[in-house]
Amino acid sequence: MQQAEPGGGDRSGTDRALLAALLHHIDEAVVVVDGQAAITWASPGVRTLLGHDPDAIVGESILALLHPDEVEGVLDSVARWAGRPGAPRGEVHRVRAADGAWVPLRYDALSGPAIEGLGDLVLTLRPASAVAAAVDGADLRARDEAGERLVRLASAFLDAGPRAFDGAMQRALVELSGLEWVTRLSVWRRVGDRHQRRAEWVAASNQPTAALPHRVPVHSTTLLRRLEALQEVHVRSVAHLPDDWAADRTALLAAGVRSALAVPLAAAGRCEGFLLAEVTLDDAAFDAAHLTALRSAAAIITAAFARNDVEVELRRRALQDPLTGLGNRFAFDEALAAALLHLGRGAGGGLAVALVDLDRFKVVNDALGHRAGDRLLAEVIARMAARTEEGTTMARLGGDELLVLHEGVADVDDAVARTQALVDALGAPFDVGGRPWALTASVGVAHTAAADVAPDELLRRADVAMYRAKAAGGARIATDDEAARTAVAGRVRREGELRSALDEGGLVVHHQGEWDLHTGQLVGAEALVRWPHPDLGLLTAAEFVPLAEESDLIVPLGTWVLGRACQELAGWRRSGLDGGFELRVNLSARQLRQDDLVDQVADALAVAEVPADAVCLELTESALLVDPEGAVVTLQRLRDLGVGLAVDDFGTGYSSMLYLKRLPLTALKVDRAFVAGLPDDPGDQAIVGACVQLADALGLQVTAEGVETEAQRQALLDLGCHRAQGFLLSRPEPAADLAVRLGLG
Ligand code: C2E
Ligand code: CA
Ligand code: CA
Repeated sequence: MQQAEPGGGDRSGTDRALLAALLHHIDEAVVVVDGQAAITWASPGVRTLLGHDPDAIVGESILALLHPDEVEGVLDSVARWAGRPGAPRGEVHRVRAADGAWVPLRYDALSGPAIEGLGDLVLTLRPASAVAAAVDGADLRARDEAGERLVRLASAFLDAGPRAFDGAMQRALVELSGLEWVTRLSVWRRVGDRHQRRAEWVAASNQPTAALPHRVPVHSTTLLRRLEALQEVHVRSVAHLPDDWAADRTALLAAGVRSALAVPLAAAGRCEGFLLAEVTLDDAAFDAAHLTALRSAAAIITAAFARNDVEVELRRRALQDPLTGLGNRFAFDEALAAALLHLGRGAGGGLAVALVDLDRFKVVNDALGHRAGDRLLAEVIARMAARTEEGTTMARLGGDELLVLHEGVADVDDAVARTQALVDALGAPFDVGGRPWALTASVGVAHTAAADVAPDELLRRADVAMYRAKAAGGARIATDDEAARTAVAGRVRREGELRSALDEGGLVVHHQGEWDLHTGQLVGAEALVRWPHPDLGLLTAAEFVPLAEESDLIVPLGTWVLGRACQELAGWRRSGLDGGFELRVNLSARQLRQDDLVDQVADALAVAEVPADAVCLELTESALLVDPEGAVVTLQRLRDLGVGLAVDDFGTGYSSMLYLKRLPLTALKVDRAFVAGLPDDPGDQAIVGACVQLADALGLQVTAEGVETEAQRQALLDLGCHRAQGFLLSRPEPAADLAVRLGLG
């Protein structure tokens, strides 16, 4: 859990971005002001009220907007309230509108712990005329308080990671609970074909009998069916409900409810739950202010759920394999790192990594379908898991590959023996569709007695050994000793070749179009490096960038690609390409850590004479997480330069949404692993949909990568994602070919 640090400047800036996203759902004109009276955020409602562009007035002093005669009075009253919780009621003041006119406004100020991390003062502005026109003072007060409550409600979700989320939801309800008349408030969330109560607030004086059980089928009553159709339901008098509402009437009466107001939580055109306010007093009634407040609250809660869904799902995916329930690659990396640390501290023996790959498993998949393949795999793992002893950890690497970590291993032979004991579990045939099926595995084992070996190096050695086992016909265990040496020799030679290619202009850049799926227009492209190798043909980045990453070549390579890509962009622009087109360039983690990265980028732009906003740099999550504090500083300087910043392969790292939201990003690229499962995999569907919502909420552009089929394209459109890249749309191609595609002759 992240803790609030007093006075943490960066922290409040990024929290503000999230809160701003949540507060977008409030219609009112809200302005956040810091200790120096400078405006740090303004809601869209400011434009409606005063005509000012909310983004443009950020940085201005609030005092500059006030009529000069009134500045002193306002300073006085603000000083009286500064730092105190609660909301003082301001008098009427004249504020300058965009057209120069003086508009009489009243403000309410909110300060203190409720808005910590957001700013020093939150001002809600309202036209003075509305105040005068209000006949019923009590009604007006209720409305104002509701507005302030919404700000606090949105604040409740700040920093609420998955574990703290339920608590945050409860706090949010408490903020809303002061709505006049309301005796019970509940938030419901759809889970499959049921709505489930996620949080509830009941007025202390009230009997806690609920009208609805903890879980209700979505279509079970008229009330629920209306919500399902995304209608708001206002039951003025339960007693007078018509007969087709009999079930609702009975339940509500039994709980003593006299009137009720329910607002659906709508996301992507679907009812994802609802917010229910119930009143047990006889003569109380809901009014328009209640409805407005509940509507805004529902929108805020929907956005908070969407963000939380992504975090929960990413965290789960980050550590657990969905099919087998085993840990995944990330979990394994953690276990291995911990074991090496343990070894370094003097734990007995050495450790070993075994990579287990089932032989001819593809045959099962092809012959019997993936479902049967998945079942068989689950069975294999269950059998092996039953044999694991203390000191052995299994994980699924993907497909039919498993990783095993043995700790406290005496030597290589011991490691092989312990691995053999696991693989022996495959000895008896499996039952596949009623037929017996024999399975064998190819296994590579890498052992180390020293703690200072890189975890990746161990995995690579196990991988090389596994291929040797495969090459020798499978159904065996191989160790890495000799194989490792040849692999290293090969790598050294290839590295030398790459270095020469880089020095002698032997690399090229290809570009893959990025498309707007609505209009079918090319809106940008991604620069991807290629190596036309004399013997091996055109090598893709995937085939040699990892090699460059392992050596010091990645930095000069990245610098070269950036310069080259900018020049090609400049060429297209000279041929008439319009300004909206954005070129994406990949940056590696190492480049991000270069002290002079910002200067390099500025140079590349200046030399090619392209404007910064025509270029967007892509960084993977893992690159961003290497040195988070340093990254924030560098990214902010890049943003100040004007280039766009995208998170690449989103969803594949140890994604911490809490962390990502603190970075000054402009775009998000959904990893192709999630697109691959569209349209059928409900998990992938959910995560792509949630990413789109998250990106919307944080004002990021979102692009899906790896679109290969028409069905995927359609699914993305349905999920609200309309920028995409992938073989279906166009492949990476030389600059000249892309120019033709762009109609630049
Ligand atoms: P990436 O940033 O995720 O780039 C997209 C990769 O997906 C490209 O592979 C592209 O050819 C491939 N791709 C595009 N559409 C599809 C599709 O529909 N289906 C499938 N299966 N693949 C598709 P490529 O060019 O081999 O690049 C691999 C990775 O190498 C890139 O992944 C990127 O991380 C890195 N890379 C490429 N160029 C550079 C560079 O100039 N500098 C650095 N640091 N990294 C680079
Ligand atoms: Ca990329
Ligand atoms: Ca990518």
